Amino acid sequence: MSGIDRSVTHADPGMPEWRFCALVARELAVRCWTADDTGLPSRLLLAEPDGKVRAVHVPDEGDDVGRGRYRINHPCLAECAHCVGEPLCRTSAFPPGTLLTGVPPSR
Ligand SMILES: [Zn+2]
Repeated sequence: MSGIDRSVTHADPGMPEWRFCALVARELAVRCWTADDTGLPSRLLLAEPDGKVRAVHVPDEGDDVGRGRYRINHPCLAECAHCVGEPLCRTSAFPPGTLLTGVPPSR
């Protein structure tokens, strides 16, 4: 096949979505957003091109959200007044201040 020298797959059913998102972000050098476990439309997991994944809050309305174009409103941090008052942040499997790493190195 021509022109394709890298690929990413989510063929491993045991791979958490955040890890797949981190692989995509690193391989394509893009930000990759994925839902977290809170169900809050304004809270997502963000994978950066360095492969690290953080919980962040995004604006919960606006044209860009509907088109999948997000911007960070603020990171989800334990010292953030919003997150301290939001029970879903505190009880998430990705609590405030989460920094997920451990994505395998590129080939
Ligand atoms: Zn939060």
